[in-house]
Amino acid sequence: MSQETIFTKIINREIPADILYEDDLALAFKDINPQAPFHVLVIPKTPIATMNDINEENAHLVGHLYLVAAKLAKEHGFADNGYRAVMNCNNDGGQTVYHIHLHVLAGKEMGWPPY
Ligand code: 5GP
Repeated sequence: MSQETIFTKIINREIPADILYEDDLALAFKDINPQAPFHVLVIPKTPIATMNDINEENAHLVGHLYLVAAKLAKEHGFADNGYRAVMNCNNDGGQTVYHIHLHVLAGKEMGWPPY
């Protein structure tokens, strides 16, 4: 199965996105269909299809996504009030793009559980 998704096209600047952060390992951009006032996706530049594909070799990339998420939340003033960072996996988890991404949601009080 090809690991190329719409997110590869965003990384390669083949389609536009509102990019907030980039480094050698990760890219962060605004979600096209925001579910909170601040809704950013943080993705590894190396495609990993799902959480099930995280392994000893690529796990450091996932930790890096959380570092970037916290950095963005702090920079945008959400650290104290709080925010949510979540990764969906496969159909029942609600995953629609098969290149792992951390949803970073902030700017409103969120409910639990997430039906
Ligand atoms: P998932 O459902 O896989 O957890 O999340 C995929 C997310 O990607 C969705 O929130 C969706 O709105 C977002 N998304 C899908 N296509 C695009 C796109 O072309 N550009 C941007 N910025 N976000 C996208």
